[in-house]
Amino acid sequence: MAIPLVDLKAQYRSIQSDIDSAIRRVVENTSFILGKEVQSFEQAFAQYCGAQYCIGVSSGTAALHLALRAAGIGPGDEVITSPFTFVATAEAIWMAGARPVFVDIHPRYYAINPELIERAITPRTRAIMPVHLYGQPADMDPIMDIARRHNLIVIEDAAQAHGAEYRGRRAGTLGDIAGFSFYPGKNLGAYGDAGAVVTNNPELAERVRMLRDHGRRSKYEHEILGYGERLDALQAAILAAKLPHLEAWTERRRALAQRYHQLLADLPLELPQEMPGTRMVYHIYAIRSPHRDALLAHLNAQGIGAGVHYPIPLHLQPSLRYLGYRPGDFPEAERASQEVLSLPLYPEMSDEQQDMVVQAIRRFVP
Ligand SMILES: *Cc1c(COP(=O)(O)O)cnc(C)c1O
Repeated sequence: MAIPLVDLKAQYRSIQSDIDSAIRRVVENTSFILGKEVQSFEQAFAQYCGAQYCIGVSSGTAALHLALRAAGIGPGDEVITSPFTFVATAEAIWMAGARPVFVDIHPRYYAINPELIERAITPRTRAIMPVHLYGQPADMDPIMDIARRHNLIVIEDAAQAHGAEYRGRRAGTLGDIAGFSFYPGKNLGAYGDAGAVVTNNPELAERVRMLRDHGRRSKYEHEILGYGERLDALQAAILAAKLPHLEAWTERRRALAQRYHQLLADLPLELPQEMPGTRMVYHIYAIRSPHRDALLAHLNAQGIGAGVHYPIPLHLQPSLRYLGYRPGDFPEAERASQEVLSLPLYPEMSDEQQDMVVQAIRRFVP
């Protein structure tokens, strides 16, 4: 029996009638762009995050891009971020016309290491974009301290962190503004591309609202130049149908993570650790092994859908060569990219399926 990395079909089957009626409702209304469905999801997701404003957009990448643009970041500006993330984090900075500046990660928690941020600040630095990688919030208190001292905006890349908490507050409310992704495999996933910007700042919220819809407030008057990056009603209705399940799904992810911790504790593997004072939502359960590639091949050969997030750090990606970084610049990100291995973990996974993953790992001989 094969075990996938995530099982979106199993999730659909568990909530099929809710999803089907949401889709039918939108199709019968024929109100496909923005409108009531989007508004009510935005309200529900803002409330879920404990934030004032949520603006639905077309993807997580668009969310980060529009957040940067709303914050006034553009050509000539530098934005400090992590080299150990999905490429879209840096692409959003590039899309805004700014320059990504990387700072190495914390070796245990994978997000940007606050102790290394200050030495990367230059007169051009305008913002910090921490990534809550794998669903573990970045260490936000020191990041916000640095930002306040240097007058920088903090934009959370919360694409993997729906419902993650840092000292009792949820991702999306920890910085000045945040971008979420609802890519299908994310903890809250649409049935296509979708994303959202979340903030407590009314001016930033209003600017994102205009930017996502061709710079307009009313139908025919375009105050600023913007984009066609709206959330559509079908995705909003699907997300609204799924949102009430997110807490239970997150709790199941956390329970499965605890089970992996126990069942793998005696093996020569480095297991993920939750930073004290945080609630990690285990978008990814990443173990580490010096024999990662052999272990990955072994698991895949047995039908276990293990993967790697991410095998090439951004500073070594061909597309970002123009930034001028070299191997050795960010040793922790480079080491992580060679050692991390993502195990199957999704809310619908049974204990028996998880036991099979564990047994397959136990059969591995390096
Ligand atoms: C998924 C993801 C994004 C981009 O989201 P899309 O919805 O795919 O555009 C950005 N940053 C991180 C860390 C992600 O995991």
